[in-house]
Amino acid sequence: MEWLAGRRYRLVVFPDRPRPVVVVAHRGHKAARAEQIAHAIEHDWAETPQECRRAYDEILRQAPGLIVVQLRRKNVCGCLGHRHVIVKEAPFCEPHDAFGDAAVGEMDIAFERVESWLAQPLMDTALDAQFMAGSRRKEFHDQQLRFRLLSILLHETHHMVAPQAPEDVVRERSLTFYREALANYVEIARASLSLTIDRSFSRLGKE
Ligand SMILES: [Zn+2]
Repeated sequence: MEWLAGRRYRLVVFPDRPRPVVVVAHRGHKAARAEQIAHAIEHDWAETPQECRRAYDEILRQAPGLIVVQLRRKNVCGCLGHRHVIVKEAPFCEPHDAFGDAAVGEMDIAFERVESWLAQPLMDTALDAQFMAGSRRKEFHDQQLRFRLLSILLHETHHMVAPQAPEDVVRERSLTFYREALANYVEIARASLSLTIDRSFSRLGKE
């Protein structure tokens, strides 16, 4: 969908609810980045433990029907993301017939900052070492990035829904989401890796 020259919009919804509709706004050449956020919402969300999703159930239920995500390379202030008090993305400034006059919220996400962000420094570094030698390192990094994007999206949505909530409360919830989603992914990945190792060990035992 393209309504303005140079601007593209990727519309995406969580698989377990019709709203909010997330509109990832980006320039055409950044389509791969928009796809990462879309993948996180459409697929990775459903793969997280139930407690992770439950922690945001009420927040997503109360969220604006339409959430515009401005994808940026970086922010001047160095923040990972912001909630915008006023919607700036032109096609979404006014209530839109196509979305049943849903309330609109907007945020930005600074993609390059997110890529280099250590959300949980000790955990991220330790996990990195475990996947270092494996062929699954790239896969791990991609997954880690998508969980970061998802946790930032949820963090800023939490701010939209509860503007008075203190930063440390909002932050604790989004970091818990990230930590548990990633731990769960690693546990599953490790189980399949050690299965491979165990098989080769037992084969050695027989020879
Ligand atoms: Zn915050």
